[in-house]
Amino acid sequence: MGAGRDPRRYGKNIPNGLSDMILCLRYLSQSLVRSRQDDGADMAALGRSDIETFTQYVAHLAHTGEISAFRRTTVCRFTSRFLREIRDLGLTRPGEILADLPGDFALRRHDMPPVVIEEGPGRALPKEILSQLCERLPTLDQIRDGSDDARAAIEILVDTGRRPDEIGCLPWDCMETDEHGKSVLVYTDFKNNRIGLRLPIPDSTAEIIVRQKKAIRARFPDTKLSELVLFPQPRQNSEGTKPFRMQHIGNVHRRWINAIPPLLLADGTEFPKLEVVPYSYRHSYAQRHADAGTLPDVLRELMGHRSLQTTQGSYRVTEKRTRAAVDKLVSHQFDRHGNKIWTQARQLLEHEHARLRIGQVSVPYGICVEPSNVKAGGHGCPFRFRCVGCDHFRTDPSYLPELRTYLDTLLRDRERLAAASDLDAWARTEATPSDEEIKRIRTLIRRVETDLDGLTEDEREQIKDATRTLRKSRTVSLGMPGIRPPEPDLRLERDA
Ligand code: SF4
Repeated sequence: MGAGRDPRRYGKNIPNGLSDMILCLRYLSQSLVRSRQDDGADMAALGRSDIETFTQYVAHLAHTGEISAFRRTTVCRFTSRFLREIRDLGLTRPGEILADLPGDFALRRHDMPPVVIEEGPGRALPKEILSQLCERLPTLDQIRDGSDDARAAIEILVDTGRRPDEIGCLPWDCMETDEHGKSVLVYTDFKNNRIGLRLPIPDSTAEIIVRQKKAIRARFPDTKLSELVLFPQPRQNSEGTKPFRMQHIGNVHRRWINAIPPLLLADGTEFPKLEVVPYSYRHSYAQRHADAGTLPDVLRELMGHRSLQTTQGSYRVTEKRTRAAVDKLVSHQFDRHGNKIWTQARQLLEHEHARLRIGQVSVPYGICVEPSNVKAGGHGCPFRFRCVGCDHFRTDPSYLPELRTYLDTLLRDRERLAAASDLDAWARTEATPSDEEIKRIRTLIRRVETDLDGLTEDEREQIKDATRTLRKSRTVSLGMPGIRPPEPDLRLERDA
């Protein structure tokens, strides 16, 4: 049963493959108990009809949401493999323990359910559904096995888009701090056998991990830290060294999803709960980044795909034109000081490079790459939207009109406030735009204009075209301080 492969790929989790097969066979046993008066004890009486009843039984479980479509496929696959291998091992020969088992008690090819590809296209959850799920996370502890551990695991799944087994098997010591003091998750991509991968994570996710580490340490104070896992299997695990099984996460998640009120789409229609599986968070994560313009090579690295084609085929990467526009403008991005990002990015380490480009959300006069704000769709700025003073801010030529309008607004506000007589001095001081901010905006405008002036006519045309394309699809965070619609721009025509 692949015993030669498992140790290389799964290390300490070798027993999981075996126990998974036993758990799958449980469904066969349940089916026999339900459908046969002898509960399946009379081996010689088993036959084709029992196999058909079994496949209908697991199909029913999948339709009613007790198991996922993927699980249904796994159960059938493992059962088929088991029945085939007992024959290969000679256990059904005369005189052997399963000698009475009829030859037609086996799954044929057409008995197998359609293959469900875990990482298939179009399975990202709509944004509103994801928000409803996040709101209902606190109800997880009301269901069977819905512990704080399960909740933390699911929250990290949502935040990081890792595969369920990558989160379930995290060691206790799974987080590091990079050279900039930012947290990175260190995990293993079991599917591709890649160890020690580093994923930049937002502070909010790092806090969940820190809390979980403390709770686990307190629960297993005597276990060596190097052996402790972040999500210990709840039973038969006195040392805290056995990790969650993927199936445990799947089961708890399914019970929780079944227990929560209906999930509603923006138009008020109900979203099928069967489509919400732990892998959905991975797809949602990838789609979020694809929509935000993450470049395909970075997305491929993030998702652990071997080929770029898989990545590009799997996610609805916004139309090719938008993608090309993002590619074009990314090399003309500036940070808050007016320094070009692209020049710096090429010298960054791989994970820093990923951090720089994996997530961004539009803010009125640029882009925000602060992970928790990106995750919140631009509504979660931890710094009261002081973008031009923030290290997470970027801008490019497509925001030039907004930069100019913002500068006008600041200058006008400064004059108006200076003349106001109905304000206390402290209120006036607080409301008045600072000289530093005005200077910063001026610098940014100048840098972007100088950059454009240095381009050839042809390159400028390309930038204009990219700007038009991006402005059509751009949505600006509603949580930001508003600015007036931009004035007509002489340098960059636009459609918006
Ligand atoms: S200040 Fe602006 S750039 Fe910084 S985190 Fe907030 S929204 Fe993002």
